[in-house]
Amino acid sequence: MVDSHTHIDMRLFNKDRDRVLERARGAGVVAVVDVGCDLDSSREAVRLAAMYPEVFAAVGFHPHSAARMSDDDLERLSELARQPKVVAIGEIGLDFYRNLSPRETQVDAFKKQLALARGLKLPVIVHCRDAQEEVLGILTGWADGIGGVGGADGMRESIGVLHCFSGDSELSQRYIEMGFLLSIAGPVTYPSSGACEIANHIPLDRLLIETDCPYLTPQPYRGKRNEPANVTLVAEKISEVRGVPSDVVAEHTTANAAQLFRLPL
Ligand SMILES: [Zn+2]
Repeated sequence: MVDSHTHIDMRLFNKDRDRVLERARGAGVVAVVDVGCDLDSSREAVRLAAMYPEVFAAVGFHPHSAARMSDDDLERLSELARQPKVVAIGEIGLDFYRNLSPRETQVDAFKKQLALARGLKLPVIVHCRDAQEEVLGILTGWADGIGGVGGADGMRESIGVLHCFSGDSELSQRYIEMGFLLSIAGPVTYPSSGACEIANHIPLDRLLIETDCPYLTPQPYRGKRNEPANVTLVAEKISEVRGVPSDVVAEHTTANAAQLFRLPL
């Protein structure tokens, strides 16, 4: 399996990162994408990718940190994005739930980083909370600019992923048509979460799995620190919901991640 979205660069993992990755390996996790949230964490992601064979990096400014992104930072991000094992720009997007950065600033940072990804022909990892329409509008414009999936710009078959996707089947269909994958995280294991229904209607060839660790810990470990090994619990729940063997979920989501991020698996 591939854990397509983690934050193992966080200090919370400083004491036992080796063991965390060992447990992941033991659980069958063959690759982990560590996703930056600002310049420092993006640098850390690149550093970890250089240290651990199974770790790959994404670099970007999270919408929460958008207000701190200067033009200089964008330039440094662009340099970082050219480092070995950087497989995506992320996480970028809009968060109108917490609004930790002003909305216009979030939109501006999102658009600038999408342009960066386009220039470098890298896929994007998108965070969207309480901003479904705005994100859809911006990504539609971006995908059109690329010339669609496999378009003239030489972009790949898939152009990005909506991480921890929470939209309905209509919205998932729109994103799929644009060339996006949709990723399911720990909330699929929570009772009363709508995530089961979402996990059921996304075609297997458009699905990714993730932990978003240390956040969103799946049942039965909810409340504890999350880690990449727990991505198996996400895969198991999806297989239960869809009535397919968990091997099948693992195979598809691994192939999808390998294709999107060009992982040498
Ligand atoms: Zn995240």
